[in-house]
Amino acid sequence: RIAYVNGRYVAHADAFVHIEDRGYQFADGVYEVCEVARGFIVDMPRHLGRLNRSLTELSIDWPVTRGVLPIILREVVRRNHVTDGLVYLQVTRGVASRDFVFPAGTKPSLVVTARKADPAAAAKRAEGGIKVLTVPENRWDRVDIKSVGLLPNVLAKQKAKEAGAQEAWFIDADGTVKEGGSSNAWIITRDGVLVTRPAEHGILRGITRTTLFEVAAKLGLKIEERGFSVAEAKAAREVFISSATTIAMPVVAIDGAPVANGHPGSITLSLRQAFFDVAEKSPA
Ligand code: PLP
Repeated sequence: RIAYVNGRYVAHADAFVHIEDRGYQFADGVYEVCEVARGFIVDMPRHLGRLNRSLTELSIDWPVTRGVLPIILREVVRRNHVTDGLVYLQVTRGVASRDFVFPAGTKPSLVVTARKADPAAAAKRAEGGIKVLTVPENRWDRVDIKSVGLLPNVLAKQKAKEAGAQEAWFIDADGTVKEGGSSNAWIITRDGVLVTRPAEHGILRGITRTTLFEVAAKLGLKIEERGFSVAEAKAAREVFISSATTIAMPVVAIDGAPVANGHPGSITLSLRQAFFDVAEKSPA
């Protein structure tokens, strides 16, 4: 495997950043994950647009010019022979002697890796659906920034795993569902309306979420952006999560209680099916 680290393509096993990188010391950095499917990088311009926003919000400079990053992503995907899988990129504020305030004159660090995934395994997961465990929201209020500070997400997803679930849902103090540890949360009402929380309110604006709005429009489905409670989700016709790597993934149980008949819903599966046609495909 090959990784890109600060201007060099190096063997994955020999890919290092310095111990005083601020990503390592302060989680002072941001990231993106793009799906690679059938030899295309999915929705790359949208991911780079969100990266730009994350960097701007944290006053981190672009590590390379914006036009160069797609070339690096493609090159890492190509050198790793990934036709289906993901490409990961991380930008940190860079290496400097440890100090909380922004160091002067530090160059941001850029790391890019790519990994193969088995599309048949993903299809099988979608056929079975996944289980969700709810946990109280305990993250900071800037989760709209795709920061590498993910310790609450790590702990929540570990707790979910120990409970036999594959995703954790953060629940707001008012009882509404915020989002997953690494995904956005959706329900489909008895009337067939898609419901997902407004992205202005304490969640990450998922790229898959945005593209699913277009998929839903194409399928003639209505979307309501509003909060929903765990009780409403448990009583919904269908429930699913979205992220770059899971697309639209059916949820069949919440806190051990089955959703509807406990099987993946047909609307979710049709959204999943139509997704790739609608998404922007950049040749890798
Ligand atoms: N919410 C959180 C907290 C995430 O970490 C992610 C992705 O990893 C998402 C939502 C979904 O975002 P996207 O569709 O861009 O992958």
